[in-house]
Amino acid sequence: MTERTIFNFNGKVALIEWFDVHRRLLPWRDHSNPYAIWLSEVILQQTRVEQGLPYWERFMSKYPSVEKLADAPFDEIMALWAGLGYYSRARNLHAAAKAVVALGGFPSTRDGLLDLPGVGPYTAAAISSMAFQEVVPALDGNALRVYTRYFAVAERIDQKRTLRHIEALCTPLLDSSRPGDSNQAIMDLGSRICTPTRPQCGECPLQHGCEAHRRGTMESFPVKPAKKPPQAETWTLYVPQSFGKFGLVRRPEKGIWSGLWCFPSTLPDEYVSIPGIRTQHLLSHRVLTLEFHEILENQPRSEDAWTWFTLEEVKNLGLPVPIRWWFEEKNYI
Ligand code: SF4
Repeated sequence: MTERTIFNFNGKVALIEWFDVHRRLLPWRDHSNPYAIWLSEVILQQTRVEQGLPYWERFMSKYPSVEKLADAPFDEIMALWAGLGYYSRARNLHAAAKAVVALGGFPSTRDGLLDLPGVGPYTAAAISSMAFQEVVPALDGNALRVYTRYFAVAERIDQKRTLRHIEALCTPLLDSSRPGDSNQAIMDLGSRICTPTRPQCGECPLQHGCEAHRRGTMESFPVKPAKKPPQAETWTLYVPQSFGKFGLVRRPEKGIWSGLWCFPSTLPDEYVSIPGIRTQHLLSHRVLTLEFHEILENQPRSEDAWTWFTLEEVKNLGLPVPIRWWFEEKNYI
């Protein structure tokens, strides 16, 4: 018999009652609209709520429906996305919007949603539970921290079998009539109370059933693989400019800043460049040092290996953060 049954503690009820009082007020929680929920989930992957909220509002205002988003030019979406990073998400956002329109609406199950570009198990479960009341746990980093502590799961969370084990353990904690609210309660708990360090167990509605709390080993969970140190890389970028225009190339479909407009990293033989300013930029597993070299004495020519843009046009392009930084640092935009 476990501690949870000895005290007859009902974590499911405690969780939903706590959520009704302490829920974080977020605009997509006023919707059962799968589009609004999906958009929030895609924007909030790898992004804090404070940073993602204005983006969600801008997207909802410019594209109030999935049809409008599907019809939008890709460059316009990239420009609106700029600054959020992980640009493959914007590409998937557009592709998924088109897929939803082709299907005639959002799939209503986790398995159906998983077929959409860029929708992984967590996002699919979040949407299906919030918009369609499917009783499936949404396991993001916050939820995994809460659940691994609550159940004292000692296996590494990067293993698929551990995730299956956690899913089996935590599904009974979801309120079957309000699974979306149960999932959001866990997310709120993980972001505000069951924090990575020094969790506030005294304020936690789950404390009477929490095994890690009982043992006093909260910070031992979740069990993660050892972290690799970030790799340092230096990139040289060449800045073609002539008669108020700037030369940019579109980044490849895969890899860093996919689909965004960037200065070229190679220079045809006939051009001469001089070193200019440099900056550092942190990516998830890399520290990039960017050295900007300026090309001053060239003319716009049709055979150039880049596309010329006026500053007005540059303002509306999807640019990586350090490229936008360069234009701002030079007082061009
Ligand atoms: S009791 Fe503490 S460790 Fe357990 S879920 Fe709550 S905040 Fe996390």
